[in-house]
Amino acid sequence: MTLTVPMLDLKLQYESIKEEIDDAIQQVMTSQHFIMGPQVAECEKAIAEYSQCDFGIGVSSGSDALLIALMAEDIGPGDEVITTSYSFFATAGCIARLGATPIFVDIDPSTFNIDPSLIEEKITPRTKAIIPVHLFGQMADMDPIMDIATAHGLVVIEDAAQAIGAEYKGRRAGSIGHYGCFSFFPAKNLGCAGDGGMVVTNDATRAEHLKVLRLHGSKPKYFHKVIGGNFRLDTIHAAIVTVKLRHLDNWTARRQRNAAHYDLAVPECSAIPQAKPDHDRHVYNQYVIRVAQRDNVMANLKKNGIASAVYYPKPLHTQECFTAKDQHTQSLSQSEAASLESMAIPIGPELTETQLSHVSATLVAITTNTKQAA
Ligand SMILES: *Cc1c(COP(=O)(O)O)cnc(C)c1O
Repeated sequence: MTLTVPMLDLKLQYESIKEEIDDAIQQVMTSQHFIMGPQVAECEKAIAEYSQCDFGIGVSSGSDALLIALMAEDIGPGDEVITTSYSFFATAGCIARLGATPIFVDIDPSTFNIDPSLIEEKITPRTKAIIPVHLFGQMADMDPIMDIATAHGLVVIEDAAQAIGAEYKGRRAGSIGHYGCFSFFPAKNLGCAGDGGMVVTNDATRAEHLKVLRLHGSKPKYFHKVIGGNFRLDTIHAAIVTVKLRHLDNWTARRQRNAAHYDLAVPECSAIPQAKPDHDRHVYNQYVIRVAQRDNVMANLKKNGIASAVYYPKPLHTQECFTAKDQHTQSLSQSEAASLESMAIPIGPELTETQLSHVSATLVAITTNTKQAA
């Protein structure tokens, strides 16, 4: 029987904490308090504290977390928001949905995160905000980003959807910018049972504004000074996230253990891992490597029962929905190269030693052969 290794095994995770989860769900069912039940505030407090922030505002998804943060800054038509070209679509989609223009910056090829040295040249009088993404669970280089933002009076919205608990020089993801946005999509490190998210902030005025926007801009009830939307986090998801948060550090430690295993194996083959600065706490939502002949390597892994995935096959600045509007199609060579060379291998906390060894041994064998064939 060949050993199979999926990218992630959420069934195993659920089995390991089934009683706690079922109990939390049952409490919500018994109360029938599905909208803004007490578990929402409890979850917000726990996530804010975990993220070294004063306030947490539960929202309907990671995408909506980004959207509501931009709405809170009144960003719209005529405004520009600087972000990375190498991320999940929502990072830029939320900017365009408000009628503002995403301005794409290339990445540092070693970390896959936005290259801060390329930001300043993209700033114009229309620039309002920067959205750095902490890709794969490792924080962007925040010190220079905050310096630039301060110098130009820009708002910083951290897209921390993949990075809850990650640290940059001892500071947690979401706590450095004006807003931090998390996603509880099931495949993130801290997932709920559907869609959910949270915005964290250390600013009381911004926190209050986010809470009003989350409820259609209603304050007091049925009176609307501003237009918001239905951006609520369901009670049932909040209850699940609060339970899972108690296990997150344990899961993160396992992800880090798995990464350490790969870090030892990868130098034996022609693959290059994502660089990790010493001062960081990387939470490994993904373990990403670059390889020559990536699609061959992935097909070969698959033959050996090993899943792998590409994050992301097409950089955002080349997406048709943006290029159609953009007269000057630009080239961002590092993002383009990364989309052709990078791939993620299984890193989930549930991986066994046997599975880990199978992945690393197979990867070494395949890339060695690929190198010879090339
Ligand atoms: C997952 C993700 C989002 C969106 O989160 P959803 O909860 O799926 O809406 C945004 N940005 C990044 C970088 C993500 O990985």
